[in-house]
Amino acid sequence: MVTVGITGGIGSGKSTVCAEWDKLGAVIVYADDLAKELMVGDQELVEEIRSAFGSESYFADGALNREFLASEAFARGRADELNKLVHPVVSKRVRDRMSRAEKEGADMFVEEAALLLDKGRPDIFDYIVLVTAGKSLRLDRVSERDGAPAEDVMARMKRQRCFDELLHLCDFVISNDSSLAELRREAVEVYHQMKGKGPESGAASQERAEL
Ligand code: ATP
Repeated sequence: MVTVGITGGIGSGKSTVCAEWDKLGAVIVYADDLAKELMVGDQELVEEIRSAFGSESYFADGALNREFLASEAFARGRADELNKLVHPVVSKRVRDRMSRAEKEGADMFVEEAALLLDKGRPDIFDYIVLVTAGKSLRLDRVSERDGAPAEDVMARMKRQRCFDELLHLCDFVISNDSSLAELRREAVEVYHQMKGKGPESGAASQERAEL
């Protein structure tokens, strides 16, 4: 099984690429969705968040108080603290899903995560794919997708690191400055290239065998 991590700035086109790979049979895990799920579903994590950020982090019915946590994380500079609680739990679940996909005979496993390369290149992936697009294109696309004011999208962009600095950690760069059709075409091409090469060095596969 080929394992892939895909990353890129907000609105770069990661999910669109993953949707193409999904159609081709890849098993895709979206780290953001997984984090949201675990922040309400994993009782140990829920307790850790409550004790670090206070009971206001959750509503009475157990739903996550996103607005409160976002303001703690971003307005009060506690994003790293929150990430340190959530990241290991998400990481473990990604590894579980990866093992399951391998046992089930999947050809390719993909994790989509904006923070994929924050601590360097994770050694569980055979390939790292970066999706890029110009800032103003991303701004327009995300504003339209989310119906969000441009200032909000800009604020989200400013919190992200510069992906140009991470190019050396990536095996494939898909630049998405053209049409959706072109992005989809490139996604399919990169998929076949990765499958054709197989697990690159064997290191990531070896590591998985030990999970
Ligand atoms: P996020 O970081 O917010 O999760 P993302 O990187 O997954 O975003 P997508 O959701 O794939 O990005 O793309 C953002 C929006 O831009 C979507 O509505 C998508 O349909 C649109 N889009 C992506 N690429 C293009 C393109 N080349 N031309 C026009 N629209 C595009």
